[in-house]
Amino acid sequence: SFELLEKFRDPELCRKLLDKMRGELTDELRFMEVCGTHTVAIFQSGLRSLLPEKIVHLSGPGCPVCVTHESEVNAFLDLAGNERVILATFGDLMRVPGEGRRNLKKAQADGARIKVVYSPFDTLKLAKENPDALVVFIGVGFETTAPTIAGTMKMARRQGIRNLRVLCFHKTVPTALDALLSDTAINLDGFILPGHVSAIIGTDPYDFIAEKYGKSAVVTGFEPLDILQSLNQMIEWRNTGEAHVANNYTRIVGEHGNPKAMEIMYEVFEPCDALWRGIGMIPGSGLEIRPEWEEFDAKKEFGIVITDGPALKGCKCGDILKGIKQPDECPLFGKACTPADPVGPCMVSTEGSCAAYYKYKLD
Ligand code: SF4
Repeated sequence: SFELLEKFRDPELCRKLLDKMRGELTDELRFMEVCGTHTVAIFQSGLRSLLPEKIVHLSGPGCPVCVTHESEVNAFLDLAGNERVILATFGDLMRVPGEGRRNLKKAQADGARIKVVYSPFDTLKLAKENPDALVVFIGVGFETTAPTIAGTMKMARRQGIRNLRVLCFHKTVPTALDALLSDTAINLDGFILPGHVSAIIGTDPYDFIAEKYGKSAVVTGFEPLDILQSLNQMIEWRNTGEAHVANNYTRIVGEHGNPKAMEIMYEVFEPCDALWRGIGMIPGSGLEIRPEWEEFDAKKEFGIVITDGPALKGCKCGDILKGIKQPDECPLFGKACTPADPVGPCMVSTEGSCAAYYKYKLD
């Protein structure tokens, strides 16, 4: 309820937690959040400017649009030119630039059939209304969206819909964190873990963060108090030489997540290797359509193979997603690259770090 939410925004309590933090911080604490909603929440609430200087905030690979690899973007842009196809997508992919700064919005203006949908289930109606076309849904994002898309495919099969395909570029969060932690060039002390993804997968899949790497990670809600509490907890543990994976968002996230959603997701998808923007190939970090569901597989239908290709010229999104650079360290930031004329996906998506930086720091 609204009242409950207000409690998590209480300025007095926030001040107390900030004071506690200042008192207990000895060294720099470099924390990464792995969820676009956290990126925005930290800026929007004003927290970013209140955090002590020794707290270094990094945005990780938590924005679904931003982690979508350049080759994946080019693949769906190529598909937009296919006359048989109606592409269905969430709105945030419309302006993501591919090779030659083309994007779906421009393709649409040039006559490609592209439909923005609000839920994957909308594609069922679209497919029924256009029996002569192949409706291809672009599936990007994490464990939050994948179960809904799996549910849509199950419903399409039940309804006998034969002209729906899914271009599956889904990725899973824990595998990416493992890849980041194993990279010695990346300097991280802990993670603020995503609320929505964790509501599906629970906390078990993150246990390796403490066990294998000796770092802490806390599943966290999106209000200022949630975030401050988690940061304080990580500072405390570091001071006592401990590392834990904890759940601070118990009002939404259960230890084992949402088993039903996981079951539906893995009934339709199976793990595969996937390319992440800036990070490259991470074994087992993607989801692909199982052979039993291949009648929906757009990659099979169109012979799409994703291979590593050149990064977007000049764009540093990759380094930002890995926590190596901050947006304002990109030479294009605020100059050649702005939300009105974005060069990279981190400036396009409202959940992208460059867009958040631009909106809340340059105002
Ligand atoms: Fe890429 Fe633009 Fe961000 Fe630079 S400012 S990293 S070009 S999105």
